[in-house]
Amino acid sequence: MAGNSLPPVGVFALQGDVREHVAVLRDLGADVREVRTPAQLDEVAGLVIPGGESSVMDKLSRLFALQEPLRARIRAGMPVYGTCAGLIMLADRVHDGIDGQQTLGGLDVAVRRNAFGNQLDSFETALDVPVLGEPPVHAVFIRAPVVDEVGPEVEVLARLDDGRIVAVEQGRLLGTSFHPEVSGERRFHERFLGHVAAAS
Ligand code: GLN
Repeated sequence: MAGNSLPPVGVFALQGDVREHVAVLRDLGADVREVRTPAQLDEVAGLVIPGGESSVMDKLSRLFALQEPLRARIRAGMPVYGTCAGLIMLADRVHDGIDGQQTLGGLDVAVRRNAFGNQLDSFETALDVPVLGEPPVHAVFIRAPVVDEVGPEVEVLARLDDGRIVAVEQGRLLGTSFHPEVSGERRFHERFLGHVAAAS
């Protein structure tokens, strides 16, 4: 991908596995900025929200006055890719959130936090993602959410063998329950950069 011709993209950097996403995006040739302030958000044409802890991301985004600017950019059509906690931040509705937990919203889905419980805290699997083609995605799940409900505009990109939804897309918003950035998988980030190119 000719990432150099794209405007800068950001990684939400108040919490989570920021470095891994920055590395994948730089590998793909993107000009990547860490976003911690509204001014930094103004400089990017798309945003990745990493994995981490969504309740902490929520609190910090309010504390750092990023919640409203982020919501406004999402409403205005900025491409965003959320992984794991980032997917939770993009969801309009959260099941099993902590008291008072808010999200940015944008994706017409309900997600369930920590959906695999304590017994199966983390696992890896080969996941078929038809829009990405072959080979299957090596998907790493870490205290991951699943998508419980999807609205009519949402495209389901991947399900586990038991039918649970773990990747979705709605317009230029992309969300995965798992972490492609830790397993050398770059196709979701490529897809995100494609959305940025289409939007700019
Ligand atoms: N369980 C975390 C949360 O609720 C998400 C875990 C992750 O991002 N790996 O935000």
